[in-house]
Amino acid sequence: MTQGKRVYSFGNKEADGNTSMKNLLGGKGANLAEMSSIGVPVPPGFTITTDVCTEYNQVGHDKIVELLKPEVEKAIEKIEAIMGMEFGSDENPLLLSVRSGARVSMPGMMDTVLNLGMNDKAVEGLVKKTGNERFAWDSYRRFVQMYGDVVLGMKPESKEDTDPFEEIIEKLKEEKSIENDLDLTADDFKELVKRFKAVVKERLNMEFPTNPWDQLWGAVMAVFESWNNDRAIYYRQMHKIPGEWGTAVNVQAMVFGNMGKSSATGVAFTRDAATGENIFNGEYLIDAQGEDVVAGIRTPQEITIEGSKRWAKLAGISEEERASNYPALEETMPGLYKELFDFQKKLEIHYKDMQDLEFTIQEGKLWLLQTRNGKRTGAAMVRISVEMLEEGLIDEKTAILRNEPNRLDELLHPVFDTEALKSATIIAKGLPASPGAATGKIVFFAEDAEEQAEQGDATILVRIETSPEDLRGMNVAKGILTARGGMTSHAAVVARGMGKCCVSGAGSAKIDYRARTLTVDGKTFKEGDWISLNGSTGEVYEGKVITKNPEMSGNFGKVMDLAQKHGKMLVRTNADSPKDATVARNFGAQGIGLCRTEHMFFEGDRIKAVREMILANDEKGRRAALDKLLPIQREDFEGIFEAMQDLPVTVRLLDPPLHEFVPHEPENQKEMAKEMGISVEEVKATVESLAEVNPMLGHRGCRLGNTYPEITEMQARAIIEAALNLQAKGITAIPEIMIPLTGTLAEMELQEKIVRATIKQVFDERNESIEYKVGTMIEVPRAALTADEIAKSAEFFSFGTNDLTQMTFGYSRDDAGKFLPVYMQKGLLKNDPFQVLDQEGVGQLVKMGTEKGRSTRPDLKVGICGEHGGEPSSVEFCHTVGMNYVSCSPYRVPIARLAAAHAVLKEA
Ligand code: PEP
Ligand code: MG
Repeated sequence: MTQGKRVYSFGNKEADGNTSMKNLLGGKGANLAEMSSIGVPVPPGFTITTDVCTEYNQVGHDKIVELLKPEVEKAIEKIEAIMGMEFGSDENPLLLSVRSGARVSMPGMMDTVLNLGMNDKAVEGLVKKTGNERFAWDSYRRFVQMYGDVVLGMKPESKEDTDPFEEIIEKLKEEKSIENDLDLTADDFKELVKRFKAVVKERLNMEFPTNPWDQLWGAVMAVFESWNNDRAIYYRQMHKIPGEWGTAVNVQAMVFGNMGKSSATGVAFTRDAATGENIFNGEYLIDAQGEDVVAGIRTPQEITIEGSKRWAKLAGISEEERASNYPALEETMPGLYKELFDFQKKLEIHYKDMQDLEFTIQEGKLWLLQTRNGKRTGAAMVRISVEMLEEGLIDEKTAILRNEPNRLDELLHPVFDTEALKSATIIAKGLPASPGAATGKIVFFAEDAEEQAEQGDATILVRIETSPEDLRGMNVAKGILTARGGMTSHAAVVARGMGKCCVSGAGSAKIDYRARTLTVDGKTFKEGDWISLNGSTGEVYEGKVITKNPEMSGNFGKVMDLAQKHGKMLVRTNADSPKDATVARNFGAQGIGLCRTEHMFFEGDRIKAVREMILANDEKGRRAALDKLLPIQREDFEGIFEAMQDLPVTVRLLDPPLHEFVPHEPENQKEMAKEMGISVEEVKATVESLAEVNPMLGHRGCRLGNTYPEITEMQARAIIEAALNLQAKGITAIPEIMIPLTGTLAEMELQEKIVRATIKQVFDERNESIEYKVGTMIEVPRAALTADEIAKSAEFFSFGTNDLTQMTFGYSRDDAGKFLPVYMQKGLLKNDPFQVLDQEGVGQLVKMGTEKGRSTRPDLKVGICGEHGGEPSSVEFCHTVGMNYVSCSPYRVPIARLAAAHAVLKEA
């Protein structure tokens, strides 16, 4: 049970906590405390700690109330003193907001209750105090609506249903022939409160709670409960946030942005969250409450004049219309804008990172509701880190660590092919909410996006607006289009966090969920029709527009240079063609760590020679076929060595079971028989004889080269002849020959002997020589266990963690898809071990193999070439065991380079 303080107060330039207490106070609570103590005007309040959430799960509602009561009462008294109001008073009622706040921000994942403390008497007190009856009753109905939803669980009953409270509002508007919410009167809101309470009574068979203290405890407990709702759990799984962290609860005095024309509310970013440009920006609405800006019901206005003009241009709105209908805060409230501008500067300098802030102006007074490090796109992440470094706000180490390796992936995401774009038709324009290009089939419901993704279909999720319930669908869709909402809408914020293309607020798009149609300018698109989105411009195109890979910005290069400067491990690539090698080299690959020769066997006509070799009955037949393959292989190697000139290239000898190459279809068998001048029956019989019960553990890897030495001979010859041919042209090739699937020293020694003898023969024939190395993959557990022995023969090791994972877990690489997802869902595994290296188990073998190998051969070069070589946490692990390099697919090279630098900096 919690021993110390459970409740931390803040307000009036003071605070019990500070920013370092995120674990206890949650991100939001710690920031509110910090903001208050540096002199930023935050509405006073208190934070109930994350420990209490855990405690709540153990002891339950009643006990928690008993434990919290004395501290909460004191904290409320402090708020009352600062605001000059009283909680539960009829004349001068203090209203509160209650919000969740975990250690890390989980946007929209958990619930919020505003205007708490409202009841039939308090509302009259507020009417008297403000003289604004409409505002008071609007606040009351908002409270009943939110409390009903969040605390009492009054939600839509099916996916086609609307919110029960929204339904009541729509009905009243219809009765009164009102179109705009702004036209609802005080009496209308009174009526709404009555009808809201009635629907609560009807559905839940209970009176709506009127006692402010009952309301407060209800809301606090609902926040605790929301930690374990489905969407919060899903978000945690997605972002690997432990369930035991719990959420804090932040209770604060309400301030109102909807008290008339001198009030406003908004959201702002200290830099552009989409591009990273150093420009203050954001959106606001006059006479509105916070959620109005993000919910997308009204079109928010820009804060700065510059932003407003840019927005108008994108939206195709004239300067005249903009200035009169959508003026910037800088124009409507210049003094307050200046104050806000100064505070945002102060906050960015204080936190040394881009801030995302929420503010409210209540009758001419500015309040900052919260600040946090803003979510941003991968491109913005890179630009902001580089520019803050150049501005001297952060140092190199911080700049590197600000770049999350996996997020670089987004910068490598597709853009539209310019040619394809020329003939594409724009059907609508929204806001460029999250950059990138996407093309897919229209779906209207998140579940449908999930279903189609399972079938491998590309989809665009089209919604009026998104909510946290849509998260899974958003995650699997190629892009997101919403009809409502600004740059800070749920869809926009979440999509940017995911690095997913999103166009929001495409106002001309009419979406009918029941008919499953999207109509723009009289043209109707059905579910399943193709559309394309440009998240960088906000354009929506009809049909499928081809996408292509992007070009890198200068800032990306600067981040890579920093990574280079601070990283220790080299990064190589897994590449089997000159094209892949070149892509990887342009991303900074420092060699090839794995060239899988078998991939070359499938191209063009060579498969025939390969099949001939496999189907041959004896060595003579095999050699005849291998003679045909030799020049082809040599040419392939020449291409690869040339693309990687001056850098080492590790070529792995043939690895897969032979039956993978033979013809299984009758037609191909017939062709093969003709080619080889044998009967179809013979071909069939050989194919059958090659079938294995367990091919991954069968006749593959060095077992092939040791049973058919002529294969090893041909490959060794092709590699060395290619290198010598290039040498003659003045091009330096650095070949490293790698033996796959070694398990014993004897196996390795026999392969080494064949390779070296063949190469000696080539040298003698040509009277030339070249440097080369012979090493092995460590991918059988026995190889790791006896690495000191194997290192007697092998000059280098490369951990093949795909096979090593397969054999250590005993999970078939080809069959694990059947149970791994279930295992992860049930929490039996934290990660897919084929993606994220299992440091606890497989990692031990990697560590042991490296140490044992180096005990025999201190200068042993060690690397990794399994899929884990491009996964950031695995790369960091490879650094800690002292590897010389990691090798990964070309597009993951930048990620691995950055992760390698992180590894060094985190160690320091
Ligand atoms: C490995 O096993 O990790 C490896 C790189 O080899 P392959 O994936 O080709 O079996
Ligand atoms: Mg392998």
